[in-house]
Amino acid sequence: MAIATINPATGVIENTFEPHNSDEVERRITAAQSAFLELKSTSYAQRGQWMQAAADLLEAEVDATARMLTIEMGKPIAQSKAEVLKCAKNMRFYADESEGFLAEEKLADPSSVNASSAWTRYDPLGVVLAVMPWNYPLWQVIRFAAPALMAGNTGLLKHASNVPQSALYLDTLFERAGFPAGAFTTLLIGSAEVKAVLEDRRVKAVTLTGSEPAGRSVASIAGEQIKKAVLELGGSDPFLVMPSADVDAAATMAVKARISNNGQSCIAGKRFIVHTDVYDEFARVFSAKMAALVVGDPLDPATEIGPIATESGLNDLAELVDDAVAQGAEVLTGGSAPDGPGFYYSPTVLAGLTDDMRIVMEETFGPVASLYRAADRADALAIANQTTFGLSSAVWTQDSEEEEWFTRNLDAGAVFINGMTISYPELPFGGIKDSGYGRELAAAGIREFCNLKTVWKA
Ligand code: NDP
Repeated sequence: MAIATINPATGVIENTFEPHNSDEVERRITAAQSAFLELKSTSYAQRGQWMQAAADLLEAEVDATARMLTIEMGKPIAQSKAEVLKCAKNMRFYADESEGFLAEEKLADPSSVNASSAWTRYDPLGVVLAVMPWNYPLWQVIRFAAPALMAGNTGLLKHASNVPQSALYLDTLFERAGFPAGAFTTLLIGSAEVKAVLEDRRVKAVTLTGSEPAGRSVASIAGEQIKKAVLELGGSDPFLVMPSADVDAAATMAVKARISNNGQSCIAGKRFIVHTDVYDEFARVFSAKMAALVVGDPLDPATEIGPIATESGLNDLAELVDDAVAQGAEVLTGGSAPDGPGFYYSPTVLAGLTDDMRIVMEETFGPVASLYRAADRADALAIANQTTFGLSSAVWTQDSEEEEWFTRNLDAGAVFINGMTISYPELPFGGIKDSGYGRELAAAGIREFCNLKTVWKA
C-alpha cells in the first residue's frame, strides 16, 4: 500500500511520501533507545511539564491540524477539532495523574518470623512500537503516547499508510514540546516492515489498534519474541433498548452512536437490539433520523456525515450490505452509495437479519446500522453476545434490576447505561474475545507498559 494522502471526499491523491529505508529505520530505533535512557531518569514533574507544553501546541494549532485530519480521512471538521482538543485533554490528564498512578505501593509484611518490608514500584519497559489506524489519526496515537512517555517509555509510531501527514505531525510534536529527540518518532513504513522492527531487541513491547487480521499477525510476532502486546481491535457493539427506556432519547443517541466519525469507530453502536414492545416505535424514529442526516463535504460545518476513509473501506461496507439484501434483509433507509466523486455511503438501516448474512457476525465500518427485534431480555442478551467481538456495549433501561443483570452478563469490556460508549481519559478502555486484550487509558493504561517490580527488604 502506497504511503499517501488520498482525499476521500474527492478521491484525489493529494500527496505521496517515500517510505523510510532500512538505514533510516535503524537510525530512529537507535534514537528511541537513547531517548529512553535519558527519559527514564527524568522526574514526573519534568515529563509533566513537557507533556503540558505538547498539549499547548495541539491547542494552538487546532485549526490547521483539524483540517489536515479531515482531508486525510474525511471526518466532519467539527469532529476533527474535537479530536485534537481531546488529545490535549488526555495529555494534561496524564501530566497530572501519572505520578499517582505509578506510585510505590506498600505490601503486607510477608515474614512471620523477622519483620521485613515489601513494596511494588512501576518502572518503564523501554521502546514501545505503536501500530495505529487512520480512523482517529491523533487520538488513537495520543491515547498510547501520553501515558507511555509519562511512564518514561519512548515510542515508535507505525501509522496507517493513508494518514502520513498526521504521522509526520506526530513525529515532531513531542520534541517541539521539549522531550528528548527520539522520544516519540514516526517510522514511515508499510505493514510488511513491522515484523523486523518488533523483532529488534531494543523494542520491548507493541500496542496495536486496528483490524483483527493485523492484530493476529502482530500478536503472533510478539508471542514468538515474548514481548508484551496490547491489542485494541474491532467491535460490533450492541446497543440494547428495553421497554422501560425513554425510546425517543435512545433513538436520538443511537444515531449519534452509529454515525460519529462517519460510522468508523471501533466502539460505535453497530447492532441495535430492541425489545419487541418498543421495537416499532424505535425503528420508526431511528430510521427517520438516519434518513435526515446531512451527507456531504466534511469541511462544510453543516455536514454530519462525510465519506468513508478509503475506497477499499467503501467496497467492504457495500459488500456487507449487498450480501444481506441479496438474502432478504429489509432496507429501512439507504442501502447504497450515492453517485458522484468521493467514497460516500448513504446512512443505512437494515432489519430482518438472519444468521446466514455476513453482517450479523462482521463489523460494519461505516454508517450502516443493523436492527434486531428481541422477544425478551434473554433473547436480547443472546443476540448481543453472539458475535466474536467484545469491545463495549450500551443498555437503555430504567429498571435497576435489569440494569444490573445486563451489566453482569454482557460479554464486553465496558457497559454504558442510558448513553453511548465514549472513550474518556479517566475510564479504562479495551475489549475481550476477538476485540483484543489489555487496557488503555486511566491507571490501567499507563501500567500496561511498565515493569511491576516487587521489592523486599530484610
Ligand atoms: P488495518 O488493521 O489494516 O490497519 C491498522 C494498522 O495496522 C495500520 O497501521 C496498518 O498499516 C497496520 N497493519 C495492517 N496489517 C498489518 C500486519 N499484518 N502487520 C502489521 N501491521 C499491519 O485496518 P484497515 O485500515 O485495513 O481497516 C480494516 C478494518 O479494520 C476496518 O474495516 C475495521 O473493521 C477495522 N479497524 C478497526 C479499528 C479500530 O479502531 N479498532 C481502526 C481501523 C480499522 P497499513 O496502513 O500500512 O496497512
